[in-house]
Amino acid sequence: MKRLAPLLLGWILSGPVITQAEPVSLVFVGDIMLDDGPGKLVAGGGDPLESFAATLQDADFAIGNLECPVASIGEPIANKIFTFRADPSVLRVLRGRFAGLSVANNHSGDYGKDAFVETLGRLEAAGLPYFGGGRNLAEAHKPLWLEKNGLRIALLAYNEFKPRSFEAGADWPGIAWSEDMDVVADIRAARGAGADLVIPLMHWGWEHERQPSERQRQLARLMIDAGADAVIGSHPHVTQGADHYRGRPIVYSLGNFVFDGFESPAARQGWVLRLTVDKTGVVAWETLAAQIDAGGSPHPVPGMATPCGWAGEAEPRDCLNPEPPPLAVPVADQ
Ligand SMILES: [Zn+2]
Repeated sequence: MKRLAPLLLGWILSGPVITQAEPVSLVFVGDIMLDDGPGKLVAGGGDPLESFAATLQDADFAIGNLECPVASIGEPIANKIFTFRADPSVLRVLRGRFAGLSVANNHSGDYGKDAFVETLGRLEAAGLPYFGGGRNLAEAHKPLWLEKNGLRIALLAYNEFKPRSFEAGADWPGIAWSEDMDVVADIRAARGAGADLVIPLMHWGWEHERQPSERQRQLARLMIDAGADAVIGSHPHVTQGADHYRGRPIVYSLGNFVFDGFESPAARQGWVLRLTVDKTGVVAWETLAAQIDAGGSPHPVPGMATPCGWAGEAEPRDCLNPEPPPLAVPVADQ
């Protein structure tokens, strides 16, 4: 009765109450690799995310792909060309900034299962929710729920780039693997569990290809047909364009976000994706260019034209990148 009282009062004063929830903003960044150059920068007191700190802070929820274990144990797995492991001290630049980190990628198992489990524990201790991985298969496929203004958003994440040995099993830790039937079942289950929006993050596609593969296009459509409101990808180290399908956005690859070691100009420019969502799904979206310096840190590019779109439109368009918002400093620090 207590909860009904304001509704009844509203009804008496103005007729039936129609609650139009405020839109919610989500920001997605691509691959975050905090070993090598970025790791050294953090160890020296630097912050590779500094230039985008205000953009992350400005969103209701910021989400990224954590492309490395964060651990002190383990050995690099055999027969893998690139293996990463970030020092636990890097959590300082993630803490408080991300509402969700995907661990469904081809590097989170680089130092073995124990280092992966250590990573999960450290993320939990740092208050950094993760998804797309867990201590067993069921955990790895469980959505991360974000809730605001009455909206319930379910995030899922999958990897489909080898090695498959990183996959979780019935009772062993690992990541969620991108199998069409499982992805579709998870999306439907999230809808059934009351999600207003379901957004899968995919770690897929061929590295350094500027266009999505037919596989990516087909799976993206399958996910939207199953109930996804947007499909967001990463892994190829470059951006791969965007599409609309049934009025919903597909951003095939956000490219790199924090990552060093790339010579090619295309691999030095990622996208940050901003979604405005409400009960109806994605209302509008825009990408923001992230120019990555030699040390692996991204920087905004105001005035650059990158893809954007509005719900229901047949195709994306281009929008000019805005100036980043000013960083809100807590009053006590001013
Ligand atoms: Zn990757």
